[in-house]
This record gives sequence, structure tokens and C-alpha cells, in this order.
Amino acid sequence: MRVVVDYSRCDSHAVCMGLAPDVFEVGDEDDLLHLLQEHPPEAAREKVREAVRRCPKLALSVHDDE
Ligand code: SF4
Repeated sequence: MRVVVDYSRCDSHAVCMGLAPDVFEVGDEDDLLHLLQEHPPEAAREKVREAVRRCPKLALSVHDDE
């Protein structure tokens, strides 16, 4: 699975970080979203999908690896 962030939409709300802190991190200093894992393990799929659903800016998407 590959996580893609549309940084032009992301507003650093950090909803995603609350749901999957090992994948998403909003920096304390720069207030920007950092993708900690572009290819999270299969075990993280549910919480990553929840983050995609709950992002208020619809800035996240998940794609299957080829
Ligand atoms: S929840 Fe959406 S808008 Fe907020 S930091 Fe995550 S990707 Fe960006």
C-alpha cells in the first residue's frame, strides 16, 4: 500500500496523526504534515483508511503497490 498526500489540500489539521501517529506526523515547529511511512505495513491498513476517510480536506489517498 502506498499513501499519497496532496499537500496543496492539506491544512495540517492532524486528524490523520491522531488516528495513525506512526504514519503521519504534523511537525511541532513547521506545522507541516510529514509522511513517516510512505508504504505502511498491511497491519496499518485499517487505521490508514480511517485517516483517509476522516481527513477534513480530503488530502489523503491510498493506492495499491504495483
Ligand atoms: S488530516 Fe488531512 S488536512 Fe489534516 S494533516 Fe492530515 S492530511 Fe493534512
